Amino acid sequence: MKNPLSKFVPFLVGEFPRPFQDLVKKVSQNEQIKNENLEKELWQAYEFGSRHHEGQKRRSGKPYFENHCVEVAKILAEWKMDPITIIGGLLHDTIEDTEATFQEIEKTFGADVASLVNGVTKLGGISFSSRKAEQAGNFMKMLISVAKDLRVIIIKFADRLHNMSTIEYMPRIKQHRIAVETREVYAPLAHRLGMAKVKWKLDDLVLKTLNPEPYKEIEKKLKSSVKEREIYIKNITDSLVKELSEYNIKPQVSGRPKSHTSIYGKMVKRGKAFEEIYDILAIRVVVDKIEECYLTLGMLHQNFKPIQERFKDFIATPKSNGRKIS
Ligand code: MN
Repeated sequence: MKNPLSKFVPFLVGEFPRPFQDLVKKVSQNEQIKNENLEKELWQAYEFGSRHHEGQKRRSGKPYFENHCVEVAKILAEWKMDPITIIGGLLHDTIEDTEATFQEIEKTFGADVASLVNGVTKLGGISFSSRKAEQAGNFMKMLISVAKDLRVIIIKFADRLHNMSTIEYMPRIKQHRIAVETREVYAPLAHRLGMAKVKWKLDDLVLKTLNPEPYKEIEKKLKSSVKEREIYIKNITDSLVKELSEYNIKPQVSGRPKSHTSIYGKMVKRGKAFEEIYDILAIRVVVDKIEECYLTLGMLHQNFKPIQERFKDFIATPKSNGRKIS
């Protein structure tokens, strides 16, 4: 039975709204955050945001704050961001879309939160209109210089990721514009910042928006072969772990799926059908030392023939971003 007081003083009766409870759950999964007042602080921001966005709806017809701002904050919590950034995420649209002012946010939540929200608002004001690839680089530089604080960019990524995953409610022409901007600017930027998973998610959402037919086809075929791939990965990893243990090497081995975009890219580039793309799966073997890495490689090459021109050694020839791993 819902306590009638919960609408006004939920923290006293312990009945917070569902979306808030979900957020708190996500945030508390991060053990690094040790803040006794966390729930109270999050609630203050949640209450502020929901009050200011009151009555606003998304194109899907659902309440704006609960179905966008809270979702953005949840993504940030999943990325293990600090509480200030998560609160910034909750409030990221308040200056732009509500009566709330910078001063008010600064007074209530402090200078850090206010400057994050302000930064995200400013980023929203720059628009990417050119289709030329070289302009995308300039736009990227502009984003970084306006953002100043990297956390502003991170909130923007969470915002973009959520908007891309709910893009089907947008008019077709707007979908196209947002997807192109995501492809030209946000995905490469995520790549440069080392956020590989974010890039991959954005790329797949772009593909889904711009090329829905091949996306659906790849999705269907990947799903139907999930079991086979799992068995295949398990066979390889089991035998590898066993062989390496004879050399006292304990690797971390994981199979990882390839993105729809990378599979589609290969189909187009090499003019092949899905069935002819052999690398729809990847296996990652992590060892402690460089020597162990080469030893593992040698072992793999005994069992699997490398393809000459597709083989890369980023220890011997590091990538342009200085990374030794891909
Ligand atoms: Mn937003």
